[in-house]
Amino acid sequence: MEIERRQGAEVPGGHALLGLALADGGAHARPHKITVSMYGASPETAYALTKTKSAFKNTYAGLVAAAEAELPVEVTIIITKHNIEELDEMRALVRDLGFPFKEFGSISPTYTGSGSTLDSQTPGYLDKSAIFQGCLAGHTSFHVDPHGNATMCKVGRENPLHLITEGPEALLRLPEIADAQMLRTGGCSGCKLSSTCRVCRPMAKVYQAAKAPLSYYCQHGNKEES
Ligand code: SF4
Repeated sequence: MEIERRQGAEVPGGHALLGLALADGGAHARPHKITVSMYGASPETAYALTKTKSAFKNTYAGLVAAAEAELPVEVTIIITKHNIEELDEMRALVRDLGFPFKEFGSISPTYTGSGSTLDSQTPGYLDKSAIFQGCLAGHTSFHVDPHGNATMCKVGRENPLHLITEGPEALLRLPEIADAQMLRTGGCSGCKLSSTCRVCRPMAKVYQAAKAPLSYYCQHGNKEES
């Protein structure tokens, strides 16, 4: 979940934070936006990804309460191999609650804290149409995993900052850490197509480490599709 005030913090298992916002009623520090990820339209599909039995029930209950409290929620529907059959149902659930939503098929949640970014992807839903225009991750938003490690986002997880031991001041180092990860280094070094690339460098790096087919993410793989 991501709460945007001056900086955004994206925290897995965010229904707990949604609960905090609901308890506060928005009376003292009403957030500009609360982003809640949806992983399924049923307990079974949400469990398949999160391995948490109450994941769907608690998240949906939080969303219903947020709708009643008129909190500024936006839902991100995370499309994975576990829930692709329920995509229309997820859209309908969110529409019925009256919340705006976005859909993401290029990233996967990282509940384990391991390098499992690609494990749940559904290749047919990877967006390769838009040229990557830059990203403010690490500057105006950040991600925190369940162990307190802050990184620029779910994908770019180099040099994590441990907020529990270092405190929030450590976040001042995050912009520099993020900028370093955005350079077209490693497998993208010297690429003449980088100005029209469809993916950010952290995402390309994850694909390259996983030895994914170039056609999934890279313009050099266009021939693989034909
Ligand atoms: S087109 Fe391929 S090699 Fe070039 S920057 Fe993008 S991902 Fe890297």
